[in-house]
Amino acid sequence: MKKNFAIIGLGRFGSSICRTLVESGHDVLAIDLNEDRVNEYMNIATHAVVANAQDESVLRSLGIRNFDHVIIAIGEDIQASILTTLMIKEMGNSYITAKAQNAYHGKVLEKIGADHVVHPERDMGIRIGHHLVSRNVVDY
Ligand code: ATP
Repeated sequence: MKKNFAIIGLGRFGSSICRTLVESGHDVLAIDLNEDRVNEYMNIATHAVVANAQDESVLRSLGIRNFDHVIIAIGEDIQASILTTLMIKEMGNSYITAKAQNAYHGKVLEKIGADHVVHPERDMGIRIGHHLVSRNVVDY
């Protein structure tokens, strides 16, 4: 079933999710502060806008509350990530996936109601570790 997604932050993490979702036939609204990054995704995402997600009125005018799933892919600016997650949580019932920069950041995101907290480097390390172990078993 086709779903609509909003992705906030078009770094390596957010942008690769954006491409994957679009390739799978979903609608994606891509949001970033950085104009160059947004221009790059203008023809890839369904819509791409330059906006500061920390601004509640911006989130409302973009109709974020109507999206099935919102991905908060802001990492370095932990304050922006937390504030954006909190506002979107309070606005409606969107399923929220949020990227954590470290364990403390992850805990806060969980506490304020992110439905799925992702630690990209840690999670990928675990996956690769499992993959290596299972390959070794097969190789053996
Ligand atoms: P990645 O690890 O995914 O490559 P990064 O290290 O390039 O990310 P981050 O600081 O994690 O950069 O930010 C990811 C993206 O989020 C950047 O493109 C940045 O411009 C955007 N971003 C940061 N703060 C906001 C905000 N308040 N509103 C919208 N976009 C933002």
